[in-house]
Amino acid sequence: MRYSLPEMAWAEGMRSDTLIKLRTATREHERGLQRVLMPVVDHWSRRQSFFIGDSSETERTHEAGAGVIAAAIAALWRWVGLLDRFQRSQWVRQVKRATGMNVDNMAPFVSSDPDLRAAVQWSVALIRDLNDDMRRRFETVLADATARRLPPAQIERDLARQIKITRRRARLIALDQTRKIAAKMNELQQVAAGIDQYVWQHSFRQNPRKHHVRRQGLRFYWSKPPRDGHPGHAINCRCDAAALLRPRTLREGYLNESL
Ligand SMILES: [Zn+2]
Repeated sequence: MRYSLPEMAWAEGMRSDTLIKLRTATREHERGLQRVLMPVVDHWSRRQSFFIGDSSETERTHEAGAGVIAAAIAALWRWVGLLDRFQRSQWVRQVKRATGMNVDNMAPFVSSDPDLRAAVQWSVALIRDLNDDMRRRFETVLADATARRLPPAQIERDLARQIKITRRRARLIALDQTRKIAAKMNELQQVAAGIDQYVWQHSFRQNPRKHHVRRQGLRFYWSKPPRDGHPGHAINCRCDAAALLRPRTLREGYLNESL
């Protein structure tokens, strides 16, 4: 905890529980992460015509992918920094709206937090995996083409199909990782402000998980995640966690800390 919003609220005379809802990552951020991931796939589609009749090309392209991956990882960290700045400013704005207090000089940037770095490392692993995935798919197509003596035009079509599949996979990864990283940032931002509970906010979009719908409006502790994690953690989960601000005295704060 870096500051205590509950104690600041008490000092300001607030006595009732207040929900602080915030807008986390947007479609624009999801598209931003897609743009980070796609060069890894594009790298293979650019060289597509070299593969026909040359089976060692998969090896060369896979190795050349290392440079593309390094660039993608650097771009990923820049994207994390931008998302952090966006979500922090949303937090500051929503706290101001809900309480009238300005926490701009207290709310931290969370992108260097070890928990967040661990979440981003998972995205790094997925980026590397895209390059490996392309190699496996191309090798399979080329081996099959040799065995069945397929004409070049057919091989081109088969390779193009594999590129399409991996592109779709990259889009899903971008969507899911944006949610997970944004959710982690939201958690860290709330915990830094001394918020220990949140209220589950269901998105009510298509294909909801029934047990997530049932959690709508229920309170959870940041220290006690439900079985499948906090909102935004399960695959494709679009639920959110609204901070539950419960004003308390300095003394109560000390008691809570020592528990
Ligand atoms: Zn959900």
